Amino acid sequence: MSFTLAIVGRPNVGKSTLFNRLVGKRLALVDDQPGVTRDLREGAARLGDLRFTVIDTAGLEEATDESLQGRMRRLTERAVEMADVCLFMIDARAGVLPADRVFAEILRKKSAKVILAANKVEGQAADAGLIEAYELGLGDPVPISAEHGEGMADLLQVLTPVA
Ligand code: GDP
Ligand code: MG
Repeated sequence: MSFTLAIVGRPNVGKSTLFNRLVGKRLALVDDQPGVTRDLREGAARLGDLRFTVIDTAGLEEATDESLQGRMRRLTERAVEMADVCLFMIDARAGVLPADRVFAEILRKKSAKVILAANKVEGQAADAGLIEAYELGLGDPVPISAEHGEGMADLLQVLTPVA
């Protein structure tokens, strides 16, 4: 059985970096797939011996008439509906920001199955943010560095029971 993982979180936390790492060159072109727009990129992911579908909530940064908050809410709700499990990412260097709490609230309201990941943990600048992440009440954060590939074994471990 395979599953679908949606990566959600505010702009700039590193969602697309993780998406690209999981998908590598196996990026599915989603433009002509029904129900999936450019706002939600879908790819075939590989992590250890796991194969799954991963969704990146892209498009939050594009300028539109819709407020960022409205866009975050709408895209995140759609991603949650498409996914079996959500990877909610925060930037441990930035710490927990008000926008992160908005996401946590959306995920709680939707009763989504959530894996909390604290990204950018390479080096010590992330220590305080990692501790703050516990405040979100979404369980223990998985410390990762999407850019440097750290924490991927831990991510594999929390994803394996989902598969
Ligand atoms: P998104 O907006 O959530 O999709 O974030 P991106 O994947 O576009 O990344 C935003 C910025 O964070 C980029 O400059 C990335 O290079 C950087 N970034 C992503 N992952 C890491 C990481 O693990 N460590 C550090 N230091 N920077 C990262
Ligand atoms: Mg992105």
